[in-house]
Amino acid sequence: MTNKKFGISEALDLLKKGNERFVKGLESPGDISFQRRKDLAENGQSPYAAVLTCSDSRTPPEHIFNAGLGDIFVVRNAGNLAGDCDIGSIEYAAEHLGVPVVVVLGHDKCGAVSSAVDIFLSGEELPGNDPLSAMLNEICENACAKAGADITREEFIKRSEDLNIEHSADKLQKSPIIADLVKKGTLVVVRAKYSLETGQVTFFDR
Ligand SMILES: [Zn+2]
Repeated sequence: MTNKKFGISEALDLLKKGNERFVKGLESPGDISFQRRKDLAENGQSPYAAVLTCSDSRTPPEHIFNAGLGDIFVVRNAGNLAGDCDIGSIEYAAEHLGVPVVVVLGHDKCGAVSSAVDIFLSGEELPGNDPLSAMLNEICENACAKAGADITREEFIKRSEDLNIEHSADKLQKSPIIADLVKKGTLVVVRAKYSLETGQVTFFDR
């Protein structure tokens, strides 16, 4: 599939079908063969999607989507946040590699989000001048602060996870490079959430 250009619906279909196979525990069709490796090294990559997801060891996107070498361009950090380097990486995938789909993939039981929730609900202030505090503060301010009141802690975490996915997707879409491609109709940014237990990816808006 090297250098093949993918359309939006074709790419979404590959992601969804790959995840269906993963959920069922079927053998992955993702090509990691010697031939594929050689082909990619010689001819370059043309991945069908870029995925911004959490660093959590239980959420490897290549497995979740039954993808092989050269299939998906991956950006990961704890809490699937969209910082400058992450946005720049996705801009590169969109502009230079021509990926038609960007997936912001959060997940349930996210340690980064539940740590932020603990801090938010305790009313503590983080110093904010070290990278970890800055990361947790971003989740507190943009997800936990909007999660609502009078709900169970479990529901609060779930809503914070969902809002955190929305926040990263919104930040990505504010990139002029990404916004321009979305406007042209050659790129979509989609939000999705992975279930650690079932392996299922639920797409929010498609
Ligand atoms: Zn996580």
